Amino acid sequence: MRYFSNTFFMIAFLLYCSGCNQPAVNKSSLDLQPNGQAWGALYQQRAAEYKALAFQAYNLAQLRLDQQLKLKSNKPLAIITDIDETVLDNSPYFVALAKQGEVYSDSSWVKWTALVKCDTVPGSVRFLKYAASKGITIFYITNRFEQERSPTLKNLNKWALPQADSAHLFLMGMDDSKEQRRMLVENKYQIALLLGDSLGDFDKFFDHLTDSVRTVHTQQTANLFGDRFIVLPNTMYGAWEDVLYKDKNANSIDDKNKVLENDLK
Ligand SMILES: [Mg+2]
Repeated sequence: MRYFSNTFFMIAFLLYCSGCNQPAVNKSSLDLQPNGQAWGALYQQRAAEYKALAFQAYNLAQLRLDQQLKLKSNKPLAIITDIDETVLDNSPYFVALAKQGEVYSDSSWVKWTALVKCDTVPGSVRFLKYAASKGITIFYITNRFEQERSPTLKNLNKWALPQADSAHLFLMGMDDSKEQRRMLVENKYQIALLLGDSLGDFDKFFDHLTDSVRTVHTQQTANLFGDRFIVLPNTMYGAWEDVLYKDKNANSIDDKNKVLENDLK
């Protein structure tokens, strides 16, 4: 026992001395960028609660669609759906970025989507097939780039998503607002439902606002969510994050982390 005791204190002393030579760890940043996106991806990939939320959204979409089908309409019915984090799951892209200590860039995003490796959001394929079986026209309105047209269609068709062709796919042109593209659909169709993970997927009122104003608009339009607007969860990225940097001149990862840390309560 005595031998053990002496040895123990000797090891403890050596460990203490070795620690004296290490620089003091003074970590003040939470490093939400890019690690927060990996945490969000973990939730999207592993949490049964995420799947339950997605099923809840698509079950509600089907209920609302059935209600719309019973009403008379002068125009044929259409659904407008976003793609990323609404129909396709990009969580592996954000995990890869976090492992490399990087954040989103257009170039790395385009390389990811070119791989045609997106899985689907739970419930999305079943719902869109159901809608198509009821004669509904489906439009995919996304802010993916024009150069992503081919891999995007390949990825949608990989999962047999209905009406996934160029005529039903509206990619981002000069304007990141989806309003003009929605109006093109509205000229010929009655929009039964809009599906998305970002408020800009639903209405122009949510475009390019500050964090506080978009919150007020959301409160003012509360009755539309779960009715005409079906929202999917996305904790990895979105306009909700982008607006936090608005007018803050946050260009580097460090700048963004300072903004995010200051915003946390
Ligand atoms: Mg999206």
